[in-house]
Amino acid sequence: MNKIVVLTGAGISAESGIKTFRDSGGLWEEHRIEDVATFEGWQRNPKLVLTFYNERRKQLLNAEPNAAHKALVELESKYEVQIITQNVDDLHERAGSKNVLHLHGELKKVRSTVDDNLVYELEGWELKQGDKCEKGSQLRPHIVWFGEAVPMIEPAILFSQEADIFIVIGTSLNVYPAAGLIAYVPTMSPKYLIDPNAKSLPNVKNLEIIEEKAGKGTPTLVKRLLL
Ligand code: NAD
Repeated sequence: MNKIVVLTGAGISAESGIKTFRDSGGLWEEHRIEDVATFEGWQRNPKLVLTFYNERRKQLLNAEPNAAHKALVELESKYEVQIITQNVDDLHERAGSKNVLHLHGELKKVRSTVDDNLVYELEGWELKQGDKCEKGSQLRPHIVWFGEAVPMIEPAILFSQEADIFIVIGTSLNVYPAAGLIAYVPTMSPKYLIDPNAKSLPNVKNLEIIEEKAGKGTPTLVKRLLL
């Protein structure tokens, strides 16, 4: 079976009602990155950070996978499909995708602040001050904050190097190391970029840019790939 690797960003979940970060009306207009998405911000004001992610989790409860998440599942009838997502939502899993790698963590999980290996599923949407891991330390969101290591980048690079087809959906390609993954894809492998505001990538060979929203562009591309 040929391998398809799909790199997704906040744009694939926009039509499910989850805000992107950088578009106008996006999350960063209401919150400073340094306050809610760095370890220093967490040390300064854990309550603010907990509230920020609690709100994101609450929003996720009311969101459903859209046509783009669902179309990617159909690819599995003909290809080995690996999703690499920068998103912290669970909409790929809920749509039914089998292989999902989260580069930047998962909203529905929390972890210890003294032992990174202690990761737990959170019941409900609210993580509170005083909620502790089994070693007695405060639990934090299981999110890779700016400035923190991205442990899942290693497997993501290996997947990208083996991609027969590489699809990028809804990411501004501003956040590294995720944005660099496309450089690992074999030169001859066809690549597709679906984003209504896609910028050209002059160094990337065999790239087709599809300037559409994910909900329209993804099902159309999937149909073509299943022919
Ligand atoms: P980004 O906000 O930087 O870029 C979003 C991209 O999506 C833009 O290029 C925009 O043109 C595009 N877009 C907007 N609407 C779209 C649509 N309907 N269809 C297709 N594309 C659309 O987000 P990013 O590149 O993912 O990177 C920023 C970080 O934000 C990531 O680390 C990610 O973890 C985090 N994030 C995650 C979520 C989520 O889990 N759903 C939401 C917001 C941010």
